[in-house]
Amino acid sequence: MKMRNYYLLSCFAMVFCMYTLYPGRASYYQIDDYPTVKKADVHVHIRTQRPAFVQQAQKDNFKLVNIVVDGAGTWQGVRNQWKYVQMQEENFPDDFIPVTAFSVEGFHEPDWEEKTIAWLDSCFDQGAVGIKVWKNIGMVLKDRDSSNVMLDDDRFDPIFEHIINRNKLVVGHLGEPLNCWLPLDEMTTNNDRGYFSRNPQYHMYNHPDLPSYQDQMDARNRRLDKHPEMDFMGAHMASIEWNVDTLAAWLDQYPDATIDLAARMGQVFYQTIHDRDGVRDFFMEYADRIMYATDAGDAMTNTPEELAEDLHETWMRDWTYFVSDQEMTSDLVNGSFQGLKLPKEAVDDIFYGTANGFFGFE
Ligand SMILES: [Zn+2]
Repeated sequence: MKMRNYYLLSCFAMVFCMYTLYPGRASYYQIDDYPTVKKADVHVHIRTQRPAFVQQAQKDNFKLVNIVVDGAGTWQGVRNQWKYVQMQEENFPDDFIPVTAFSVEGFHEPDWEEKTIAWLDSCFDQGAVGIKVWKNIGMVLKDRDSSNVMLDDDRFDPIFEHIINRNKLVVGHLGEPLNCWLPLDEMTTNNDRGYFSRNPQYHMYNHPDLPSYQDQMDARNRRLDKHPEMDFMGAHMASIEWNVDTLAAWLDQYPDATIDLAARMGQVFYQTIHDRDGVRDFFMEYADRIMYATDAGDAMTNTPEELAEDLHETWMRDWTYFVSDQEMTSDLVNGSFQGLKLPKEAVDDIFYGTANGFFGFE
């Protein structure tokens, strides 16, 4: 054997030995690995036919979960969004998974249940993998006696049973960030402070007569207790975005539930400022229950170029936060924080693996 080959072989053997001797040694992504690593954003709202959103996701190596939501509280609103989902799916059959919704419009009419089940079936037959229930259940929908209808209301039982029988998923955005129940100057993130000062009607601190934060969480949990077999993703960190220990306890209580991070990175950054180690431990321990998401959307309010830039910037910010230990700032919070630099395995779970297990991209 030539000397040079021998040298190469022994180098290889040494690296191999080190690898097998220390298999537990963590390895890390670099920021530059971003385009080559498979990722998913499991909570987006594309409400247009234009291709800009999905094209940027392709460039940045993201699969998407495109979610319909009963935001306007009308069947027409839900149907319109589903139409856009179908248009997008025609153009990009491999790039996203659709999640549909039902409307609570007509909830008190005798045919609401039948109509809702028929609608869900038609969406499931067209490829929807699940449904989203929204905060209007618990916060907006009124009963005949003008009390709020909560998620655990018996009248929803046949709907949830049907979804489970069809083997579909439930995405739940119930309640709001805890900030919603706090005065403006006690809120932890600038985006919440801005939103609730512009929308005082949704700022529950001003409405102590309406259900409390805990009422919303309890109603959601009672719905989960009714259906232990239900596949559930708690959107927006299951509205327990304010404390990773409380969220960990909830994940322990519901061992099959998962969460997404949509629109709550501000709360993650805020907690990182105060307790980076605690936040890092949480993401390490629960990585296989956590899915990266942004809540980004396209409703044609900006140019395709602006949209693409916004998406790339947000995705890159969060990638940098999870893979590096850079000192960072964000307009979401006051103060700076250090990236978590999670090991590759945790990054892979949060950015793709958990979502692939739940939604099935491949
Ligand atoms: Zn959303």
